[in-house]
Amino acid sequence: MTDTTVTVPTAAPPATARGVRVRGLRRAFGDREVLRGVDLDLAPGEFVALLGASGSGKSTLLRAVAGLDTEATGELDVPERRAVVFQEHRLLPWTRVWRNVTLGLTGRDLRARALQALEEVGLAARADAWPSTLSGGESQRVALARALVRTPELLLLDEPFGALDALTRLKAQGLVARLWQRHRPAVLLVTHDVEEALLLADRALVLADGRIAEEFAVDIERPRPVDHPRFTALRRRLL
Ligand code: ADP
Ligand code: MG
Repeated sequence: MTDTTVTVPTAAPPATARGVRVRGLRRAFGDREVLRGVDLDLAPGEFVALLGASGSGKSTLLRAVAGLDTEATGELDVPERRAVVFQEHRLLPWTRVWRNVTLGLTGRDLRARALQALEEVGLAARADAWPSTLSGGESQRVALARALVRTPELLLLDEPFGALDALTRLKAQGLVARLWQRHRPAVLLVTHDVEEALLLADRALVLADGRIAEEFAVDIERPRPVDHPRFTALRRRLL
């Protein structure tokens, strides 16, 4: 087997890109305080993993950073253009794949924009399919395309590969690595998978007791195993 893959050079984030600054973020459900003063910074274009036990508040934090939680309090400075991918793809079953990708967008050439984003996740051929005909991995790739089409400065991923089988997950991780290299949004990846954090992120944070309890740099040089040519070649054979 010969390695024919060319490693994609890592682009720099756009000079105008904004990062994330969160200070003293709090959120309680009844008398249960889930977030008790979270401070969080992401540089533009930085890939950060957020680890934590189940129930530690990772999704609560991600929803707050996404601007989806009106009851969280604290200082929140996040880019306008942000996109979220959840563990469940949340595609609307009654509208075709490409329309799901551009849902809520207005303007011209929506189909062309959808096709371009679908191309990036390898699913342009399924543009006119119904979501119910897609596999789990394909659905998540469509959800990624729906995020990409918004050219996010901040991409929020909440255990996006948690429900996928191991090989499909490997493929999806490789895809996210390549998309990040190409577009360089800041990424906050929620995961409880330490290996995934090491594979993809520059830095990992651990959420515990309602705060960022620990932080470590992932000082493994790129290319990481996930975008190593051998891996890519293997992935192509298996998937
Ligand atoms: P994680 O994503 O780390 O598994 P979550 O952020 O989903 O954790 O949840 C953290 C805690 O907050 C859990 O105890 C959960 O039951 C609670 N929680 C989350 N959302 C709600 C809600 N809408 N109402 C009540 N409790 C909630
Ligand atoms: Mg969660």
